[in-house]
Amino acid sequence: MDTVVDRLVRYAKIYSESDSYGQSGTPSAQREFDMANLLVEELHGLGIDNAFVDQHCYVYAWVPATPGYEHLPAIGLIAHMDTSPDMTGKDVKPQILHYEGGDLILNREQNIVMEAARFPELTKFAGQDLVCSDGTTLLGADDKAGIAIILQAVEELLAEGAPHGKLCLGFTPDEEIGRGASNFDVTGFGADFAYTLDGGDITDYEYETFNAAMATVTVHGFSIHPGTAKDRMKNALLMSMEFNALLPALETPGHTEGYEGFFHLQEMSGKVEEARMVYIIRDHSMERFQERKAAFQKAAEEMNRRYGAGTVEAKVEDQYYNMYEVLKDHLEIVTLAEEAMKAAGVAHPTHSPIRGGTDGCMLTYKGLLCPNLPCGGHNAHGRFEFAPVESLKTGVRTVKALVSPALVERVISGKEQ
Ligand SMILES: [Zn+2]
Repeated sequence: MDTVVDRLVRYAKIYSESDSYGQSGTPSAQREFDMANLLVEELHGLGIDNAFVDQHCYVYAWVPATPGYEHLPAIGLIAHMDTSPDMTGKDVKPQILHYEGGDLILNREQNIVMEAARFPELTKFAGQDLVCSDGTTLLGADDKAGIAIILQAVEELLAEGAPHGKLCLGFTPDEEIGRGASNFDVTGFGADFAYTLDGGDITDYEYETFNAAMATVTVHGFSIHPGTAKDRMKNALLMSMEFNALLPALETPGHTEGYEGFFHLQEMSGKVEEARMVYIIRDHSMERFQERKAAFQKAAEEMNRRYGAGTVEAKVEDQYYNMYEVLKDHLEIVTLAEEAMKAAGVAHPTHSPIRGGTDGCMLTYKGLLCPNLPCGGHNAHGRFEFAPVESLKTGVRTVKALVSPALVERVISGKEQ
């Protein structure tokens, strides 16, 4: 039988980076099918013959309930197959390093060192084995650790003949570029509720996300030779800066944490004649989210008052909403996650508000309630990404506990709060 580490190492080597500039729809990159096809093959190998990949590169599979446990809710387990385009995921060379504390050398030849001073959470894992890359690529534990944990748990449940209700497995492309849920077939999936396994530290789970909008601002100027521009030139670049100055300067990602929302200018381009800015707007509170969007429009109106109607056009579009708005009426699903983590040996599970979204937000609003479970990875999207072996094993135990009839019956059927 495989171990969860064997699986992570095997999956990490597959190049499945999504591509923000790639083909529209899903998958953004054809190479994501390499990961999908491998998973289908492995699922078939476990005797799960119904596994398949669809034309949008989503892998689905179902494990029927153990006879006598058909009454239990069908639980979905979801992870994403792509890795972040922020750092290359090509030719990943995973290695397992024993960490004794202090700095961790990832690559002697190229002098790539993970410094404890820079990554203080590292010291928590002194004495443990860590799965790392060789420092020249990301590892891809985000989210291949999630896939490894799900498949390992399923393999072990089947091998042990442990009872469980119906399990629905889903592996998605393009999560990292925000499209992971876009072609997900919620109806066909057929789960009563689900969990993404896409979180970080194995002691922390998540069910609160941002409310999110994207805003595009177009500023129309008037260009004329600078020598004869007096009282005539309208410089779109200067007006862009003026627009930005109307937003609260300290409400940016670099100045906020926890439940504090922000405006984030993430792209800016232009000339005197026309300039364009792209912002994202984020807040956990729906009320403050609406206020932020209103303030943004107000800034555009103020600019138009100063420089004439139509000078600044602000187009604000909602992207996703805080899953807690829906989950708050079904907290037994959250309780089940927490109880499963405790059963797996996490003495004090914590839950932090995600300062972002997950596939689970979009799925939740498509009708599939979907909190996020941890899979043990740290420093995602970069060369210092790692996953402690012990955390991966805890993840497997968490999933097995999550689907165990005794716990599901007590928490879900009993609607324990
Ligand atoms: Zn992820």
